[in-house]
Amino acid sequence: MIRQYELIERIRAYNPDADELLINRAYVYAMVQHGNQVRASGDPYFSHPLEVAGILADIRLDSASIITALLHDTVEDTDATLNDIRRMFGSEVARLVDGVTKLSRIESQSTRTRQAENLRKLVLAMSQDIRVLLVKLADRLHNMRTLHFVSGEEKKRRIAAETLDIYVPLAERIGMQHWKEDLEDRAFAVLQPEARRNIVQRLELLDRERGDQVGQIIGALSQALNDAGLGAEVTGRRKRPHSIHTKMQRKDVSLEQVSDIMAFRVVVDTEMQCYEALGHLHAAYRAVPERFKDYLSNPKENGYRSLHTVLIGPDGHRIEVQIRNREMHEFAENGAAAHWLYKQEGGGVDGRQYEWVQQFLDILESASSPEEFLSHTKMQLFPDQVFCFTPKGDLKALPAGATLVDFAYAIHSEVGDRCAGGRVNGRQMPLRTELHNGDRVEIVTANSLRVTPEWDRFVVTGRAKAHIRRHVRLRRREEFIKLGRQLLDAEMREAGHVWRERQLAPVAVGRELDSPEDLLAAVGDGRIPAREVVRALYPEAPVDADTETVVSIERARRRRGERPRPLLIRGVIPGLATHFARCCHPIPGDRIVGIITTGKGVTVHTDECLTLESFSHTPERWIELDWEDEPEQERPGHVGRMRLTAANKPGTLAHVASLIAGNQANISNLKFVNRQPDFFDILIDVEVNDTRHLNEIMAALSARPEIASVKRAKR
Ligand code: MN
Repeated sequence: MIRQYELIERIRAYNPDADELLINRAYVYAMVQHGNQVRASGDPYFSHPLEVAGILADIRLDSASIITALLHDTVEDTDATLNDIRRMFGSEVARLVDGVTKLSRIESQSTRTRQAENLRKLVLAMSQDIRVLLVKLADRLHNMRTLHFVSGEEKKRRIAAETLDIYVPLAERIGMQHWKEDLEDRAFAVLQPEARRNIVQRLELLDRERGDQVGQIIGALSQALNDAGLGAEVTGRRKRPHSIHTKMQRKDVSLEQVSDIMAFRVVVDTEMQCYEALGHLHAAYRAVPERFKDYLSNPKENGYRSLHTVLIGPDGHRIEVQIRNREMHEFAENGAAAHWLYKQEGGGVDGRQYEWVQQFLDILESASSPEEFLSHTKMQLFPDQVFCFTPKGDLKALPAGATLVDFAYAIHSEVGDRCAGGRVNGRQMPLRTELHNGDRVEIVTANSLRVTPEWDRFVVTGRAKAHIRRHVRLRRREEFIKLGRQLLDAEMREAGHVWRERQLAPVAVGRELDSPEDLLAAVGDGRIPAREVVRALYPEAPVDADTETVVSIERARRRRGERPRPLLIRGVIPGLATHFARCCHPIPGDRIVGIITTGKGVTVHTDECLTLESFSHTPERWIELDWEDEPEQERPGHVGRMRLTAANKPGTLAHVASLIAGNQANISNLKFVNRQPDFFDILIDVEVNDTRHLNEIMAALSARPEIASVKRAKR
């Protein structure tokens, strides 16, 4: 366990202005709060926040982050409240601690790894200050380092899988290469112990056969540079078992055939010396052709700079060497954090804590590769979405502004229709309550329908709107039926007839209506005068000239010979033509609604389609639709549209086409929309079975290096 003064010394070494008093106060406060709590290892609990603070000191973070690390579990696991923290350590620390606490709560709710992508987004959306994410990652790192103490194989595997699914990609995205590898290898040890043991044993065998290769090569490289009069720091390491494993898998080779299981690094003082060192090394050892890369004059998109080369090393084996100066080295190791460190030099640290976050965001903003960097790293990246949990821990992604009622409908239409109340994070809240990221939402349902027209004023999802409006329509219909019955009854009495409802069936058929009730509703809403029904039943009565004024849309359509298409959709109206909207290209798996257009029939839109807004004033035109559950192979080809941004290189399009064909899909249309010298955008229509099929294709495409982004095209 690090001692108090050791921690302070480590911090002072890089930050002489650190708030020593406040750090000490946090140290003592956390120690007292955690009291007698112990870790699975048997160590006092306090050793954990202390180690987390140590990890952050290693990457030279500011005082507020260190203090947050010391306090990060106090609100969740002790009597301490956020108010206590704010009073004692200020609002900045309180805000950071609150962020980390919220992330920890999410963690305990999530159970399903297939929602990893959503969870990663949620974690990013909730760590609005990147320091929250850094503290959380350091917390996870220490927990992974002590995972072997945790009892229960199942629990260990769950934590390791979550680390791999959620935290490894996040560490990578913000450039924390070091942490990424550490987390990844420790998860690997838990999830695939056999594979890892195998690699470790073979590495040990290599050591016995060849001795300390890393040490020998470091010596030889240093010697070569020293002889040339260049002072350089040479380090080397064997790659982690996990990355060796990945290489073996990817190239399908044995460990002995993996050429670069060792990586060496030469760190010099200036940029110019990088080239000097490269020259000396190439003079002393043979360089492998075409493996030299100059990321110094051509930095990677995330700002990474270095010279890379591969040499035939002193023992005749290939070795990978990276050459860089100190600043580049910091950036390569600690991405986000290093950037802060270098920008801070020459200025005081405290009082400028926010600036580096902003600068980091600026870099991301100007980065040119959206997939690799910008889209995965920017905080508050998903302002148009909120992520909430069901009581079972399932994650629901909803549009921003979604309410309890939207959430209820997102679970199931039955739940929405019967939703009587709800609890957000355990507290009873009104149905109109807007949801926030990470909310845990519980819906209380009644036995009877609870839908009211008022809901329509605050719900935001198309799905909720369609259901609510349908109920409003149904209710109105019932009122019309009641009214129609009264009108007809009065008319019948006047004509001296006694009548029964079942007499109306043939009249309804004559009018191409489905049932006597439909006829009554038509009478109630004025489409068919009651007198006309009486006359149809008792035709001896004289006929007025102006009776045939109502011609149903239905009949007009049939006269034109339109036939319903055999669609695998529930809820379509027989006799009405149905087609898919070209704005959003719905395919099975999307949530859908129908819009009735006079003379056109029903247009099927996705639930999220923006076009739907223009129909919000005409609820009577909305109908509820759903896909039939059909076996996949019987689904006709549905056209989904993708927008692709790809490098403008020869062969790119051929790759795209063969990849789509390889996924059993046809390209039905392809259109260039934006052709630049370096990149182009294309809209591709593909015939697919459903969203899963399309998603598989999109995943395969986005894995190609020449493709910058792939999205569903909504317009
Ligand atoms: Mn913790």
